[in-house]
Amino acid sequence: MNLILFGPPAAGKGTQAKRLVDEHGMVQLSTGDMLRAAIASGSELGQKVKGVLDRGELVTDEIVIALIEDRLPEAEAAGGAIFDGFPRTVAQAEALDAMLAGRGAKVDVVLRLKVDETALTGRIAKRFAEQGRPDDNPEVFGTRLKAYNDQTAPLLPYYKGQGKLVELDGMGSVEAVAADIDAALGQVVK
Ligand code: ADP
Repeated sequence: MNLILFGPPAAGKGTQAKRLVDEHGMVQLSTGDMLRAAIASGSELGQKVKGVLDRGELVTDEIVIALIEDRLPEAEAAGGAIFDGFPRTVAQAEALDAMLAGRGAKVDVVLRLKVDETALTGRIAKRFAEQGRPDDNPEVFGTRLKAYNDQTAPLLPYYKGQGKLVELDGMGSVEAVAADIDAALGQVVK
């Protein structure tokens, strides 16, 4: 099964993806993690994208699509992928559909974690204090939220039109959200 965890920054996608990996043996494909790893390694790609991440803007579609494409065989071998932070634009979603179709696969379900902006801002302030991730500072977080609202939220009608969108309340505890995700996955007809 291929599923997309969808939601604004700090909605809890990474937390839930890691749990699904532990419990269901799927592969988490987080473009944010891949980009941060590239930056940490000092690779050419890392040097190219560092400023973009630090500003809270989106890197080009071409870069993230290539990162995902590289990892699809591994995900397929594991029985499916959890896409976390990808796709973030309609062009990325179209590319993902085409890449999966080329492998005889598809996106099975899109789980949207709904969290209001006040709660997101609070979570990020806490994460910034604890971890000091540069793009969690309040000003950059504002840019990230704007990127979500302008460029990523238009994916909601895209997936709704495909009949794949499931909306979940992301405001509860990690365990409550996890239970809702498992219930939703139980309903998915592959
Ligand atoms: P969050 O913790 O806010 O969910 P991520 O860790 O997914 O954020 O991403 C961090 C940054 O990496 C984004 O602000 C953006 O610059 C870049 N990025 C990650 N995924 C994508 C993508 N699919 N398209 C473009 N940029 C991306």
